[in-house]
Amino acid sequence: MRGTLYIVATPVGNLKDITIRALETLEEVDLIAAEDTRHTRKLLTHYGISKPIISYYGPREEERARKVLERLREGLKVALVSDAGTPGISDPGYRVVRLAVEESIPVVPIPGPCAFIAALSASGLPTDSFHFAGFLPKKEKDRRLFLVRVRQEGGTFICYESPKRLLSTLKDMEEVLGNAEVVVARELTKVHEEFIRGRVSSILDALKGKEVKGEVVLILRVEKEVRTRSLTELIREYQGYGLAPKDLVRLVADELGIPRGMVYK
Ligand code: SAM
Repeated sequence: MRGTLYIVATPVGNLKDITIRALETLEEVDLIAAEDTRHTRKLLTHYGISKPIISYYGPREEERARKVLERLREGLKVALVSDAGTPGISDPGYRVVRLAVEESIPVVPIPGPCAFIAALSASGLPTDSFHFAGFLPKKEKDRRLFLVRVRQEGGTFICYESPKRLLSTLKDMEEVLGNAEVVVARELTKVHEEFIRGRVSSILDALKGKEVKGEVVLILRVEKEVRTRSLTELIREYQGYGLAPKDLVRLVADELGIPRGMVYK
């Protein structure tokens, strides 16, 4: 007798954004595995649900996943929830799903809120195809490396960013991507929900001197770059971004479609 693992999406701000099926599932399962048990208890209390909860704490995900798997092997029905939105999307979840799949334990998604899908749907930027990058790298050098890749690829790019780093990330974007189209989606589904749409430079102007607060999704629309620069021009530009030599060589070689050895030379 195997149990079932339910992956239950919960609100990203507004407590009313929970599906009937999510509430029924949380009522019916034997156990809830939660990223933060105190946070989830508040949600359950709001909906009058009382259930045993165990921790599915991100930094110890490997170990927690094995614990949940033991329960599933015993035949229990377990719901996995994160603090907000869809588990596994920039949140813990992947490992237990992987283990369950490996043991042929049924995994059932209970879909619902996801911050980046909400942001994209109302962004006004093309939605037909997009790249979700999760949280951007914290180090400036790695962020710029990511942005150069974005420029090479072109398209709609979505990322999660902390409000503290938003301004420096937008400045990096202005430098590497030029005046790309950007949407900052802030505090979605909450009282202070806000969409700031425009070119990077106008958004930087609008945010000048202001402290950005709350949760943020950042969406970029970047036209695929037409290669017009010479080998030396590209090398100089990327040196200016402070990229490591090995990253620089890889980027330039990819961009110009030439062997790395030639760039080294
Ligand atoms: N699992 C979640 C989901 O499905 O969207 C994402 C969790 S991730 C740890 C948290 C990040 O998602 C925040 O730092 C922010 O970038 C974004 N986010 C979550 N809720 C949001 C909201 N209400 N408005 C804007 N961004 C939000």
